[in-house]
Amino acid sequence: PISFNSDTMKTTPSLDIVIVGGGLVGGLAACALAKRGHSIRLYEYRSDIRVEESSGQSIDLALSVRGREALKLVGLEEKIVNHHGIAMKGRMLHGKDGSLREMIYDSVKKNCIYSVSRKYLNQVLLDAADQYSSVTLIFNKKLIDADLDHGKLKFIDTNNREIVEVNADLIIGADGAYSTVRRTMMKRPGFDFSQTYIEHGYVEVNIPPRMIDEKHSNKGVQFCMSSKHLHIWPRGSFMMIAMPNDDYTFTGNLFAPLEILNSLDTPEKLVKFYEQEFPDVLPIIGNKQALIDTFFTAKPKTLISIKCSPYHCGKSIILGDAAHAMVPFYAQGMNAAFEDVVLLDELLDHYKDDINKALPAFSRHRCSDAHAICDLAMYNYIEMRDLVMRKSFVARRNLDTI
Ligand code: FAD
Repeated sequence: PISFNSDTMKTTPSLDIVIVGGGLVGGLAACALAKRGHSIRLYEYRSDIRVEESSGQSIDLALSVRGREALKLVGLEEKIVNHHGIAMKGRMLHGKDGSLREMIYDSVKKNCIYSVSRKYLNQVLLDAADQYSSVTLIFNKKLIDADLDHGKLKFIDTNNREIVEVNADLIIGADGAYSTVRRTMMKRPGFDFSQTYIEHGYVEVNIPPRMIDEKHSNKGVQFCMSSKHLHIWPRGSFMMIAMPNDDYTFTGNLFAPLEILNSLDTPEKLVKFYEQEFPDVLPIIGNKQALIDTFFTAKPKTLISIKCSPYHCGKSIILGDAAHAMVPFYAQGMNAAFEDVVLLDELLDHYKDDINKALPAFSRHRCSDAHAICDLAMYNYIEMRDLVMRKSFVARRNLDTI
């Protein structure tokens, strides 16, 4: 972390900021920048996830110290960590023979990472942003074009196709891995960009709670495995992981080459695959039909890693996945994205909210760190599914990996 002398007073007038994207980073950035006294309009492509029955990915996220620091900045750490998050003190490795092996993340200080629901976290962040009178949340508006030098944006209303044009002193691109703000930056000379789709994709598998009394299931439920661990079934070229939820379920993810995932195209093939590779999973899911129902809910999703530089251009900056989407095997995508917001806040503090100085400084400080974490995530992609069973790697576990 960079430390600045933060006893500087804010002298510039408040900025009129437009945030594109109301996901995790957009919500957090809205809170952090409103706290600085700026005026925020946040435009989100989707409808409001706080009122929609179901939208976005349902996957759990592992929250680590980077992310907690950012939540602390906007006063939400306790709400998320203590009232919702489930502490995971280590990994629980599931062998093919049903054997279990525990790997504690931090046996000395007993630090842990927390399983949090993406949707809940996003809802809390939007609610918190909404508390500021200087924040306006606008849904169903998709950015289609931007003039980053002059702070002009063009959105389309996804309901009535109406075009909305707005101006901003500062544009924050928090519009995810397929960012339109970044796409606009890419047209500029000197903007470096690379993306890699890995061979693997993933499918979500829900693991229900165990009924305490099977005859009277309404009497109560409990976790079907230890809720204090991140469960991993490493199998060489593929793996499954599962994290606990606060309703006693687990959200599992099967990460495998897309070729394998796409080949599991009938219930029979799927059940045979699980019987062969994850024999202890079927009993905890309950029955074959439950596995079939959860697995075929959605098509396999792809995984992408994106590096680019710089992260700013004219009156705009990209944060989070828009700047550095990474494969999820280091569990740092959101955590690093949240850290972007902390760094931006520190730099705005340091430069008295002068974006002409703060934005270039952000790129200078952040690009190489973010590229490094993208590389580490790619490395952990191999380790988690394969090397994780080798004893020599046990000593190198720490809280920066899942
Ligand atoms: P997003 O969450 O993608 O939000 C972008 C928002 O912008 C969306 O709401 C979208 O609708 C909106 N948007 C997009 N385009 C437009 C447009 N043109 N106009 C307006 N709005 C737009 N990270 C962790 O730290 N820990 C984990 O355990 C972890 N697990 C993961 C597991 C998987 C399978 C995956 C895929 C990722 C995981 N991540 C994890 C990474 C994490 O999900 C991302 O890093 C995080 O969601 C980034 O947040 P974001 O706000 O930048 O982007």
